[in-house]
Amino acid sequence: MKTIGLLGGMSWESTAEYYRILNQEAARRCGGLSSARIVLHSVDFAEVEALLSAGEWGAIAAHLGWLGRGLRRAGADFLLICTNTMHKVADEISMAAELPVLHIGDATAEAVLRAGLRKVGLLGTRPTMEQDFMTGRLAAHGIEVLVPGAKDRDMVHKTIFEELCRGQFLEKTRANYLRVMQQMAEAGAEGIVLGCAEIPLLVRSEDAPLPLFDTTRIHALVAVEMALDPTCEAD
Ligand code: GLU
Repeated sequence: MKTIGLLGGMSWESTAEYYRILNQEAARRCGGLSSARIVLHSVDFAEVEALLSAGEWGAIAAHLGWLGRGLRRAGADFLLICTNTMHKVADEISMAAELPVLHIGDATAEAVLRAGLRKVGLLGTRPTMEQDFMTGRLAAHGIEVLVPGAKDRDMVHKTIFEELCRGQFLEKTRANYLRVMQQMAEAGAEGIVLGCAEIPLLVRSEDAPLPLFDTTRIHALVAVEMALDPTCEAD
């Protein structure tokens, strides 16, 4: 099995999910006491979020790239950036670390296409919804992407940092997210990409008006696929 290098802590709430899914999937596929080979660098999210709020993308890329290099020295064969938003600097991180990055946009696009969908709504932080590192990546796979209007983008962005990344999952916020999903369904979305690693902790598939694409789970499952030596598959 290859060793997966995790850039985590953004936030730790969702990194804990990555860790759980990676290990559960390795155990499911390899059997017995098998678990995933992982090296993790978990950042202090307050420092990274301050750079994000200031739009200091160069500093973020340099910081995460440096940490990625450390993961390579610790034995990582490839990197998993455990957040959608930081994929804005995925290429810079990969170059600095001299390791491949498994891009969350590619993994998600494949899952959407496998489900036979071509038009999806996207929820995430403001950079994820407004810039093209996620929408462009999905579009490159032939998927049309809808995002909420400006007021709802603000609501989603704000609640990610003020609630979800702090482990708060409020009924009022859940209702707001479901309302936005319903609006995107009415605008023609066939599914919703939960393009922020904490949103799956707030909204469950059974509550949603459309199929949900949980990017955390999708990303982690593809990582195990990539890491596994095919000979260790249990039957
Ligand atoms: N974890 C979130 C994401 O998946 C947002 C936090 C961040 O800025 O990285 O985008």
